[in-house]
Amino acid sequence: MNSRIKYSWNRFEDGFDKTGYAREFPSIAEIAEIFGRWEKQFSDRFRYVVAGKSQLGQDVFRCEISDFGIADDDKQNVLITACEHGGERNPTTTAIKLMEMLLEDNERVAKIRRKVRTVIFPCANPDGYTHFSPFAANSECVYAGYDFVGRSNTLEGEYIVGAIKELIPELMISVHGTWRDYEKSVVQEDTGVAMASIFSRSYHKYLIEQMNKEGEKFGFAYAGGEDDDERLIANNVPAGCEHKFYSTGPWVNTPGVAYSLAHSLAFTIEVANDFSGAVRLIRALELGTERWQGALYEGYPVNVIAPLGLSRIVSAGRSAQNRRYSRAELWNDKIRNFCYGTIQYPLKGANLFYWTTLPEFSAFTTSHPEKRLLVDSLFDFLSRNCAQVNIRKLRKLFNEQLDYPVSAYSPVTGGYGKPKDSSVDRVELDNAFGLQIRLPFKVNDAKFYYNGIPVSEFDGVESHCWSGGNWSYFQIDLPGEFVQNGIGVFAIEYFV
Ligand SMILES: [Zn+2]
Repeated sequence: MNSRIKYSWNRFEDGFDKTGYAREFPSIAEIAEIFGRWEKQFSDRFRYVVAGKSQLGQDVFRCEISDFGIADDDKQNVLITACEHGGERNPTTTAIKLMEMLLEDNERVAKIRRKVRTVIFPCANPDGYTHFSPFAANSECVYAGYDFVGRSNTLEGEYIVGAIKELIPELMISVHGTWRDYEKSVVQEDTGVAMASIFSRSYHKYLIEQMNKEGEKFGFAYAGGEDDDERLIANNVPAGCEHKFYSTGPWVNTPGVAYSLAHSLAFTIEVANDFSGAVRLIRALELGTERWQGALYEGYPVNVIAPLGLSRIVSAGRSAQNRRYSRAELWNDKIRNFCYGTIQYPLKGANLFYWTTLPEFSAFTTSHPEKRLLVDSLFDFLSRNCAQVNIRKLRKLFNEQLDYPVSAYSPVTGGYGKPKDSSVDRVELDNAFGLQIRLPFKVNDAKFYYNGIPVSEFDGVESHCWSGGNWSYFQIDLPGEFVQNGIGVFAIEYFV
């Protein structure tokens, strides 16, 4: 940290004390002073606004760090909140430490700034931060009263939910920390878990592992939740087995809202030491600049909206922003009208993945008397309902496979079955959607068909083929208007 940024409040200047505890905390006015100075010094990469006033009339800051010389279209959006629990002040100093590191002149963070737009609420709950008392208004919890559609009953919560709706963040991290008696007690540091809340966990283990490894380099120890407590978390615990699980509360916290509204990779971290939190968060941001194994694009793995074994409906688009809008549209609403299915296993060099929004076909897939012949029936149905289709080619591709079962899935019923809302018989999409097939082995070459017609013959349809680890991936991106046909089949013919 040679290029340490100087500012007058100097808790960090003395290095970190042995326990890692903060001994002093800057006031809200002092924090504003730091931000004011940064804004002048780093006008190309730092800005802040007052998102609104707290219940006691204090400023709620919203900071943004990014390379402002580069358009945001292809950046990943990350939202970080700190001090949602008012008694937890060291998350605020952790956020300041993080920003200090992010503003430095070195290639590692410069790359993050080019590729990631980081929005930070460093002190989400200034009343709780300042008064450090359970009696101050809203000192306990910003997210009190959240629900999964993004309602909040606190002013401060509204600002955060507003940011989630605006940013549709790929990554959302809520930073928590030492509670009130910070001079006497230590919180266990952990990443991606909070005991007893299922909505604080990450759905991606690699990111958590990478963050913890980064902290371990500097000597910090992390609790791993289920991993090192050898205990599962569960929502519906069978009576009599309560003591065998982490119990989960019904409450909704900020990561829960981000997951629900934006399909964000969202979770909490616990921080006892500012530096531990900052280095873990830097690593989390850095991962947004990398291409993950199996991913088509650089950035966080958040595009799979509807998985079904080896086939998946994904958000699609050329830029990160396109995919973000697609993701929000499918995730929040449209995907519930889809029913989709695949030949159970990739066989003999060909595989198909069908989707439908037609209730009659969704029902048909579940009620068909001879499931073994469902592929055959699918082609018949397709030929009657879809204008542009080459049934001969489809039959040729799958001639030897008509005896194999097709599996079908509806996101609403959570299993095999027709969507509950069968009154919706036509779905419109403003954005593209992708159909993906992945195979757990290497493939040398593949041909792509949509409704039996080579994909190259469709305007505006993009095809992608790539590998990750030992997986092979095949994907077509369909413009939103394709969904108006109500049914379609993506097929690949592959050669190993
Ligand atoms: Zn907390």
